[in-house]
Amino acid sequence: MEETRFEIRIPCDDDGFILLRCPRCGELFKLTAEDMESNETLDIYCPSCGLCANNFLTQDVIGLALAKTSNYAMDAIAQQLQAFAKKNSSGLVRFEVKANREREPEPPIRAAIEALQIVTCHDCGREAKVPPALAMSAYTCPLCGIGQFNER
Ligand SMILES: [Zn+2]
Ligand SMILES: [Zn+2]
Repeated sequence: MEETRFEIRIPCDDDGFILLRCPRCGELFKLTAEDMESNETLDIYCPSCGLCANNFLTQDVIGLALAKTSNYAMDAIAQQLQAFAKKNSSGLVRFEVKANREREPEPPIRAAIEALQIVTCHDCGREAKVPPALAMSAYTCPLCGIGQFNER
């Protein structure tokens, strides 16, 4: 099987941030599209629980990825069956392939509105958006993983 790549567009908010969600504690936070794509960003840390993972996608994004994969796989199978049916159409064995199954919906990812606050890391100088409660007390920088303590 060939390798197939899907592109899923995740919209940035007005400040250029992309929404992420921690798979462990469910905390929502945002990083800039620039930092997300940067080669310097190897690991991402949850600002709340400090989990280091590479799967901080929101349910919307995961759902869309699964729908796209499933639709693609079904299309590929239907195509193969149709090609096979054509090749064999003059033989004794005949069958028709009908690709009338229902496709999974592929809703575009919407930019949701969350009350997140821009914070700048004291250690790496990069920006993230975290919930105000974390911004005002302590959070783990999602980009460098160093704990940030903010006093008013
Ligand atoms: Zn977390
Ligand atoms: Zn940092």
